[in-house]
Amino acid sequence: MEQRELLRKIPKMDDIWTKIETVKEIKQFDELIAKDELRAVLQNLRSDLLTDHADQFDERRLLEDFIVNEVLFRCKKLSSMQLRKVINGTGVVLHTNLGRAPLGDYVKDALWDIASGYSNLEMDLETGKRGSRYSHMKDLLLKLTGAEDAIVVNNNAGAVLLTLSAMTKGKEVIISRGELVEIGGSFRVPEVMEQSGATLVEVGATNKTHLQDYEKAITPETGALLKVHQSNFKIMGFTQEATMEELVELANKIDLPMINDLGSGLFLSLQSFGFPPEPTVQEAVAAGCDVVTFSGDKLLGGAQAGIIAGKKKWIQQIAKHPLTRALRVDKLTLCALEATLKLYLNPEEALVKIPALRMMTEKPKALETRAEALMDMLKPVMANKTIVNTSLVTETSQVGGGAYPTVQLESRLIRFEGEPQAVTKLERFLRQHQPAIIGRIQDNGYLLDLRTLFDDDFDVIVKAIECWIKLSAG
Ligand SMILES: *Cc1c(COP(=O)(O)O)cnc(C)c1O
Repeated sequence: MEQRELLRKIPKMDDIWTKIETVKEIKQFDELIAKDELRAVLQNLRSDLLTDHADQFDERRLLEDFIVNEVLFRCKKLSSMQLRKVINGTGVVLHTNLGRAPLGDYVKDALWDIASGYSNLEMDLETGKRGSRYSHMKDLLLKLTGAEDAIVVNNNAGAVLLTLSAMTKGKEVIISRGELVEIGGSFRVPEVMEQSGATLVEVGATNKTHLQDYEKAITPETGALLKVHQSNFKIMGFTQEATMEELVELANKIDLPMINDLGSGLFLSLQSFGFPPEPTVQEAVAAGCDVVTFSGDKLLGGAQAGIIAGKKKWIQQIAKHPLTRALRVDKLTLCALEATLKLYLNPEEALVKIPALRMMTEKPKALETRAEALMDMLKPVMANKTIVNTSLVTETSQVGGGAYPTVQLESRLIRFEGEPQAVTKLERFLRQHQPAIIGRIQDNGYLLDLRTLFDDDFDVIVKAIECWIKLSAG
């Protein structure tokens, strides 16, 4: 049909509305909203017909029933939760796109209690006077880190920006060229520095920076020495960096603060589980760093937050800065973080109860047992079906979140193999399933990594795959 003719076939708003109005399901939505959606649907039809690809236009879209359904679909989408639970089969424990650290059920009661009612967020219950939202977990943070004082803000990017703004505005900050990192696209050390009003003074080379490089760069304008964790990359081979102890010593000698952006916020050494050495927060504080900053939802395993800990003098100066208010953390985060931090009072408990730590330290043997259980559940579903075959394979998973970038954790995975097209379709079906199941395609197979799957996910996965097989066969 000709374009002009098709355009004429788009129903008039009022005509089609009289039809939509009579649909029972549409009555649960506000009339203005439903009409708005209808207007958008008609507008889409018009603009799609006016493009150069109008010849590919599917004429069924002009059918009244089709339009009614489209409006209903859009209304339903608007009123249903779009931020949804996802099952993580990628094996990446701190998957930033999937919300980083999952919280354990230890937060359940506390979180709902605080969310659904009032709390002492900013009231001191001893005196009845105004209190500070930062006070609740302060004692705990100081106990766990050994720091003199601490404050929590929205995230670690904010923590770094705030720290530099409050401590080094208008001054020079010396940092190694090997530490000018970019984290997750939009956080770049040089840009954050510029935003804070401090001047970046880069020293050394990408692979090697010596203590003397810092020494030589010190001027009367110097405001601080900064160390930034390389996080998501590693330079191998001919490398050299000044240790945090050396930098602290140098900073002390010239009476300047040493700031250390640790990134991940590791509270427990994981070396006994085969992880490479990595400074814990306690070690950085004990080494004498004046201020350390780290994330709440990376290796710490809690909620999204940026924690700033260190010498009282500096933390108090930071707390007074106007950006602190702009980056302020909400009560739900404070609650989830406090509940997580409490577990660290007993490290053995933390390793089992904090999901991110449990996943990172789960042994291949345990992963295998769980993989076998999932395989057993899948067996009846897969019986006599030839679309895909399943097998239990050994592969590696990653920590993610910019932590331990070179570490490959031995894991057990379920591999679905078949025609490339079937594998692609399976991946898409599971991704669009509710709840969504996210795996990875590798060497023409679809993989689900047991490391990041909860036992509760097994049932959902089996049912989803059963459903896909039925649809594919039919
Ligand atoms: C992850 C990271 C940040 C940013 O932390 P967010 O909590 O994601 O804002 C900053 N610095 C370093 C070194 C990091 O690893």
